[in-house]
Amino acid sequence: MRIDIITILPRLLESPFADSILKRAREKGLVEVVIHDLRKYATDKHQRLDDYAYGGGAGMVMMIEPIARCIRSLQEQRTYDEILYMSPDGERFTQPVANELALKKNLLILCGHYKGVDERVREHFITREISIGDYVLSGGELAAAVVSDAVIRLLPGVLSDETSALTDSFQDGLLAPPVYTRPAEFEGWKVPDILLSGHEKNIEEWRFEQSQSRTKKRRPDLLL
Ligand code: SAH
Repeated sequence: MRIDIITILPRLLESPFADSILKRAREKGLVEVVIHDLRKYATDKHQRLDDYAYGGGAGMVMMIEPIARCIRSLQEQRTYDEILYMSPDGERFTQPVANELALKKNLLILCGHYKGVDERVREHFITREISIGDYVLSGGELAAAVVSDAVIRLLPGVLSDETSALTDSFQDGLLAPPVYTRPAEFEGWKVPDILLSGHEKNIEEWRFEQSQSRTKKRRPDLLL
């Protein structure tokens, strides 16, 4: 898979892909993440990327020309399965959306800033708009990193234990059960006996029950 991200703040997207699981995924060649500095596509001599909103009002708007130039130059090199725009008014990002995106070959993600991008970008270039939650961030970079992380860890070979992503919260419509590791007792706080029993089938049943009761208590909406 290849993910291209268009941003006015490329530095914000350096560290999320430079460590741990995502770093290894890139090194293993399972995913290529390429960050594009929108400023390189500025069309006027002052390298402006934003301007005042028509009709007035507070806040700047990202101009269409640099974005169009950048998207078109990338499209000349490959076909994108989706061109995503990160936006609080987009479709809510959930595990099923991540699963769906993980099956794509080339994704292009546009990060907005200020008041957002000129609406014509959304109308004519964007194929899908995604929100990571009902709150407003100052830019789309952190949202793009969230989406990319959730997608990349689903790619075959990225997680060392292949089944691990399948047992995470939301994959089967349930929250994950509690997990424990050594020591078996810390200041009198014990790990549930069943997990030390070595009885695989009982452990599996216990985990399933824990998942169910946890979901019922914390996220009953998932059970509807
Ligand atoms: N005026 C816009 C908010 C702009 S916030 C509105 O009220 O809808 C600036 C940029 O941050 C957006 O263009 C978007 O790319 C990003 N952003 C902010 N909140 C986001 C969210 N919840 N999900 C995804 N992207 C978000």
